[in-house]
Amino acid sequence: MTDAELQAGLLGGDRRALARAITLVESARPDHRARAARLLGAVADPSRDTLRLGLSGTPGVGKSTFIERFGLDRVAEGHRVAVLAVDPSSARSGGSILGDKTRMERLARAPAAFIRPSPSQTELGGVARRTREVIALCEAAGFDLIVVETVGVGQSETLVAQMTDIFVLLLAPGGGDELQGVKRGIMEIADLILVNKADGDMRRQAEATRAEYQGALRLLRRRAGDPDGYPAALAVSALDATGMAAAWDAMAALAAHRRASGRFAATRAAQNRHAFEDAVRQGLLRHLTADPGTRDRMAALGRSVAAGQVAPAAAADEILRAILGAAGTGGEG
Ligand code: GDP
Repeated sequence: MTDAELQAGLLGGDRRALARAITLVESARPDHRARAARLLGAVADPSRDTLRLGLSGTPGVGKSTFIERFGLDRVAEGHRVAVLAVDPSSARSGGSILGDKTRMERLARAPAAFIRPSPSQTELGGVARRTREVIALCEAAGFDLIVVETVGVGQSETLVAQMTDIFVLLLAPGGGDELQGVKRGIMEIADLILVNKADGDMRRQAEATRAEYQGALRLLRRRAGDPDGYPAALAVSALDATGMAAAWDAMAALAAHRRASGRFAATRAAQNRHAFEDAVRQGLLRHLTADPGTRDRMAALGRSVAAGQVAPAAAADEILRAILGAAGTGGEG
């Protein structure tokens, strides 16, 4: 497949072309990176009407059950759904592999759905860039609803929130202990909290948990411009589909409101800017670790800093001056 064929196939929604294009953006080879960059530039179209959802939750909370049901419902409505995964723990968490097709068997078989597991790469920054690029490729291939799945550990939620339009946190029913366990930081980035497994014996507990979270969310500052009631907490059962339609309505209503207010576009613009700055930062870091001379110098300065012989900022200045030349650093404030 030539690059022109790849581009045409991708824009025509050909899954084989999409898979190839993804392989290209996930490659670390410089010639692949260059081709991927050209392809991404050629297929970019900011006017595409798409929605990017971030979905986070600890292993076992019901992410794959939820995404399968949710995805099939959207496909039935005429959406084309792509499911991607960001997994900081080298594509494996608590025994389950995010984005694993066997976890969402029916959705994986749906012609209007596309499921892609997390690239097996350890560097979180690299995963972020690739995921952003895979989102762009899926959208170019005609997928209008992108679900980016991640586990509720570490920094991956923040990362996913920075590449999606709406961030959904999936939680299990539980008492106050559970509430304490959820970091304030993730509560602050969630647009929607869904307490899953609101069925059978757990139904009442799920409702109580939902009320608790709703109370906690009210204490947080509302995001500028968002309508009343957001961030919202709802109880759902991915297993028997209770509340699933209401959950989608809540996402769609928020997205519509943000589109109308201009905030949707403004957030994407800010995310693009952030992605650019992030790529520059990553490039600098790669440069630092790729050059043996710089690496040795870093290690030596690290020892001096640890021994208290050099101030950390002064040591950083020295390294930056060394790699940036006479331009210097300008300092970090
Ligand atoms: P993940 O690790 O977050 O992807 O969680 P899974 O979707 O694999 O679900 C973990 C377990 O919880 C499985 O046994 C599911 O059947 C179960 N589960 C998922 N959603 C629900 C639900 O809404 N109600 C109940 N009762 N169980 C559920």
